[in-house]
Amino acid sequence: QRIAVAVDGPAGAGKSSISKVVAKKLGYLYIDTGAMYRAVTWAVLQNGLDPTDESAVTALLGTLTLRLEPTEEAFIVFVNGQDITEDIRSQSVNQAVSQIASIKAVREFLVAQQQAMAAAGGVILDGRDIGSVVLPNAELKIYLTASVEARAKRRWLETKDKESISLETIKKSVMARDEMDMNRKESPLVCVPEAIVVNSDNLSFDETVDRMIQLIAA
Ligand code: C5P
Repeated sequence: QRIAVAVDGPAGAGKSSISKVVAKKLGYLYIDTGAMYRAVTWAVLQNGLDPTDESAVTALLGTLTLRLEPTEEAFIVFVNGQDITEDIRSQSVNQAVSQIASIKAVREFLVAQQQAMAAAGGVILDGRDIGSVVLPNAELKIYLTASVEARAKRRWLETKDKESISLETIKKSVMARDEMDMNRKESPLVCVPEAIVVNSDNLSFDETVDRMIQLIAA
């Protein structure tokens, strides 16, 4: 039986890199919902809009066609046919994305698309509100977390230009994002009671992958 798996947790816990590998091993579809919030954020910045201008952002949504195209290794992100896979990881998107994700109309726009993509089962969705809002009836909910230190360190190791940004700066931005994601009014990041908590502080990448596969197979 191919189920729907909800993976939630704070920024930098490894949700996407782990979920991607787990999905590949199981032949599941992987949906990175954070990439969808990033794609909308990219479009807001690209159009020169102020991320705090909710009515301007809401009006923009009607002009956006978003598509995640699965590939062998991950997926390509398209907005109105343009490949923006790399652009959505920029520092300007990092800084504005939590603001954009706090807008109700943005969440409604994306949640509807996420639910449609998950309907067939055999999917892993990763995000902040998957177990609570997107798939409240998911067969399995995992809350993947790690300490702020471990998460910042991982983000820093992934940074291409390590000279340009210090570990301390990344730690601050991870903490700022946690703060906004957990304390916002619209679908805050929560660990729902039925979720199975996986803390990856003392697990290697492969051990975390194995743990998730065990949970899905159980
Ligand atoms: O997962 P990632 O760090 O790429 O997500 C970027 C941002 O998108 C998060 O900090 C959060 O503000 C927002 N997000 C969200 N709900 C989701 C996924 C991401 O609010 N389901």
